[in-house]
Amino acid sequence: MRSTRSILEPKPPEELPGEGFRKRQIAHWLYRRGARDFDEMTDLPRALRRELAENWRISEFELIQAFPSQDGSVKYLFTLKDGKQTEAVYLPYKDRKTVCLSSQVGCPVGCTFCATGALGFGRNLTPWEILDQLLAIAHHQGIPPTEIRNVVLMGMGEPLLNLDAVSAAVRRMIDKNALGMSPRRITLSTVGIPKGIRRLAEEDLGVKLALSLHAPDDETRKKIIPTAKAYPVEEIMDAVAEYFQKTKRRVTFEYVMLKGINDAPRQAREVARLIKDRRIVAHVNLIPFNPWEGAPVEGTPKAGIRRFAEILENEGIPTTIRWSRGVDVGAACGQLALKETPPAPLRFAPNAPNR
Ligand code: SF4
Repeated sequence: MRSTRSILEPKPPEELPGEGFRKRQIAHWLYRRGARDFDEMTDLPRALRRELAENWRISEFELIQAFPSQDGSVKYLFTLKDGKQTEAVYLPYKDRKTVCLSSQVGCPVGCTFCATGALGFGRNLTPWEILDQLLAIAHHQGIPPTEIRNVVLMGMGEPLLNLDAVSAAVRRMIDKNALGMSPRRITLSTVGIPKGIRRLAEEDLGVKLALSLHAPDDETRKKIIPTAKAYPVEEIMDAVAEYFQKTKRRVTFEYVMLKGINDAPRQAREVARLIKDRRIVAHVNLIPFNPWEGAPVEGTPKAGIRRFAEILENEGIPTTIRWSRGVDVGAACGQLALKETPPAPLRFAPNAPNR
């Protein structure tokens, strides 16, 4: 019977199939050159290629669709082997290429300002479905996977609710025999689950942490983030402080600006206090709300966002207003909602990988 085992699962090179240096060749094709078909591995003997094709699969997806934004970013919709779907985003900048990956199908958290949350929860992604989002995007973009040097786990899902899989995928990203990425260039974004943050510190992956704070007080947080009922903000901040103490990596605080909910000047001062009390080296990203159909909240007007940023800066907290990319194709923060499907599916683009 044909096996459905992912070739991304065995640790490279030693656990890969093949004898001796063939293992290294396979790892090179998979992770450095981004092969999507065993037949592309032309320096392997034909019999080995046939054996690989019979027993292993490279891609985790049945179908890939791409939605290019006018600003250069591309949203990808992946249909998985079981028919479920998830999304990821490619974000090219002048000096770097970034991908925003999903960790779950939908999301169990259900934040009121987030289109993904409104979808509900499908299932956890496997490590290889997480990793393959990066490989598939690189292939579609016609670049080797190693050209993507930045990963943000900020797509669909709460990564700390699928930490085993996220951790395995990240280990493969930083493995020098696989993608060889720097953990400093991988950011895991969480809505704040203290136990998960502490476990992440124990995992010792060295990745950067981003906390989706969105409000400095429990009363407001509970209105927009359902898990806030279980985890008070002070407890989350203590766990974040421990993560900072252990890793010494600057922590990012994400804050989506919602009109009349979390944008009062006193709330900006309270955000600064939470950070300064714990001596966390931090950066705050203020995110203008990206609207989606049926959203029950409104965004803060630009002037209000600037005023909020000014208060934080005056309190000594470095702050950036992060205007999202990909808004026109529903690829921006909080917009991933498995919605747009073009009339004809776009499989891997013809621009062949740079080999
Ligand atoms: S913001 Fe993040 S945690 Fe909240 S519902 Fe959306 S994907 Fe889930």
